[in-house]
Amino acid sequence: MNMMNFTRVALKNLFSKPVTRPYPAQPRDYPARTRGQVAIDMDACILCGMCMRKCPAGAIQVDRAARTWSIERFGCIQCNSCVESCPKKCLHMEQSYPQPDAHKRVDTVEKPPEPPKEPPATAAKSE
Ligand code: SF4
Ligand code: SF4
Repeated sequence: MNMMNFTRVALKNLFSKPVTRPYPAQPRDYPARTRGQVAIDMDACILCGMCMRKCPAGAIQVDRAARTWSIERFGCIQCNSCVESCPKKCLHMEQSYPQPDAHKRVDTVEKPPEPPKEPPATAAKSE
């Protein structure tokens, strides 16, 4: 009886598709609500630091003087708190995971300097 079961399972496995996927040749399609890694639209960021204050893991650093936003990738616990608290909605969760690394990696994004403000136009004198 056990031999019959074994043969049936062996034959079924021989003629069915593999249950594994040849990663990375065939990447996985993640569900729409996957929390992969935090990404930022630095053009929209105002360097307010709200995401840094709301991050429970202390993974985000905002430096207004240096105009940088940094995240420690392996410190992030994908809680989504920074995304929900950003007043400019410039953070979102990408549906991909950080690349493996032997070291704790900090990704830093720099905000380009603002263009110099135009001097106010002098009003034409009326006579
Ligand atoms: S909360 Fe948003 S706008 Fe403020 S520093 Fe973070 S990413 Fe930038
Ligand atoms: S998802 Fe959570 S843990 Fe990750 S950076 Fe944002 S607030 Fe911090």
